[in-house]
Amino acid sequence: MAEPGSVAERVKQQADIVRVVGEYVRLKKSGQNFLGLCPFHQEKTPSFAVHPGKQIYHCFGCGAGGDVFRFVMEMEKISFPEAVRAVAEKCGVTIPEWRGGSAEGRGAGEQRRALVEIHRQAAAFFVRQLATGEGQAARAYLEDRGLKPETIARFGLGWAPSSGEALARHLRGKFAAALLDLSGLFSRDPAGHIFDRFRRRVIFPIAAESGKVVAFGGRAIGEEPPKYLNSPETRIYTKSRVLYNLDRAREAIRKEGFAVLVEGYMDAIALAEAGVENVAASCGTSLAETQARLLARFTRNVVVNYDVDAAGQAATDRSLALLLGEGFDVRVLALPARSAGKTDPDQFVREEGVGAYRELLGRSPLYLDYLIARARQMDTGTIEEKLRGVNFLLPYVRLLSSPLARSEWASRVASELKVDQAALRELLQRAAAERKVEVKARPELLAAAVTPAERRLLKMLLDADATGERLAEQMRQTELHRGLETEPIFAVLLDAVGGERPDAGELTALGERLHERHRRLLFELAFEPAAEANWEEAESCLSALKRRRLEAELRSVQTEIEALKAGRVGPSNARAELARLLERKQTLRVSLERMEG
Ligand SMILES: [Zn+2]
Repeated sequence: MAEPGSVAERVKQQADIVRVVGEYVRLKKSGQNFLGLCPFHQEKTPSFAVHPGKQIYHCFGCGAGGDVFRFVMEMEKISFPEAVRAVAEKCGVTIPEWRGGSAEGRGAGEQRRALVEIHRQAAAFFVRQLATGEGQAARAYLEDRGLKPETIARFGLGWAPSSGEALARHLRGKFAAALLDLSGLFSRDPAGHIFDRFRRRVIFPIAAESGKVVAFGGRAIGEEPPKYLNSPETRIYTKSRVLYNLDRAREAIRKEGFAVLVEGYMDAIALAEAGVENVAASCGTSLAETQARLLARFTRNVVVNYDVDAAGQAATDRSLALLLGEGFDVRVLALPARSAGKTDPDQFVREEGVGAYRELLGRSPLYLDYLIARARQMDTGTIEEKLRGVNFLLPYVRLLSSPLARSEWASRVASELKVDQAALRELLQRAAAERKVEVKARPELLAAAVTPAERRLLKMLLDADATGERLAEQMRQTELHRGLETEPIFAVLLDAVGGERPDAGELTALGERLHERHRRLLFELAFEPAAEANWEEAESCLSALKRRRLEAELRSVQTEIEALKAGRVGPSNARAELARLLERKQTLRVSLERMEG
């Protein structure tokens, strides 16, 4: 975040994170660190730590963590530049007009700020248009959807006039034409004449999590297609990085401990209006990984309330599997189908009331329960159908990283689908053995899955002294970290080590390149006291990784041998294949024995 040489970096160097955090949290010195009660989750015993040397904070309870700017952004609900300014003020650092950084970087920053300003002014313009005579149709539409005037104002809904140049005229004198082109709010005809992208549409401002409007969605009132038109991606808007309404919902999500995920703007607005404030919309059924990670910063419990119609089912399944794989506790709220067909949350709340909605919300089944119910619908008794139901469930159960959870689910599936438990377990075991490395572990299980050798090696790289640098060199060559659950952490550290020592700023930047659970581990390690490392220790950790790799290969060779012997898989050249496997097994054994000796 704080680029080297930037104003942010200079503010950070002069700011004292202990003092800044200390304004919000009572901190007590404990060893080299400071400890206090976490401001981001409820707790009675302190698990929130500040590292004055590395200038970072980390909560060992909820996993919140970052540098001084992140802390102030989270506490004050402000954007990064605002946080830089706030920290500078708190620490008495004077900020010149934004200087520093490369000329190009400065230009890009200025451009982004101008684009945000264009969106701010456009949003205000659209709101004003809603009150005009022409906006009457839009008001009628919104009132017809049951929205109160307060709600319309709160969500900043507006109207894009039909003329096609109203917004262009409004902004033309204030911003350079090149900027207007970059804003995504205008198009040009072949003659180069600029005109409004949104015409004769109800406007929904789309804000980043900071609350700044970065794009718009427009719904057609008349017959003019398409029904929904969105801003294109711009320098300030990437669709996959925004969840609609998250900026307003984040507090409620933290308070309630979970988020309701819906598809459309109107669903989110209707639920929020009815008092279900912890709601965000993915704007489509295909959730992006970046959206899941964005949400994970606020909660890992999510109730997905999509329209589960046949057409959307595949996309919905992918989104749900994605959330499961990212370690979310996923529940599914499938609203009862109505006589008129599918039901969306907006319509349901209007017709049945929020009480009925909340009741269903409270009873929404865990995702896997929901899947079992669907598998049961496929099963009408024949063996083929049972098998279809089981095969439908297997990929999801496989996403569970804990063997215990998988085993519990096997029992559940066996009894619900009335299949033989032993046979099912065998199927499941085989499916689990095929688990790819990219299947995600849950954050709380990660710590257990990481071996002491991995932890130690990561710590050595993190401390980046002479041993760490030699180690980095070695690991870049041998790539012993490939396939480990911690591989991404090794990857970013191996990138960084060899240059200068990763200081506080870099550590935060490194963390931003990682999944939340990996960032957590990285921060935890940063808080461990640095221990003198020597090369012998590094070597013994490396050979532990090597041994693990050999053992894993030995296991998989053994499984293949057994499968061949049992005749379960039978290539035409089974004999030759068996001989090859036995030979490989022998080689692996010898290598392992040599390592023991
Ligand atoms: Zn916490």
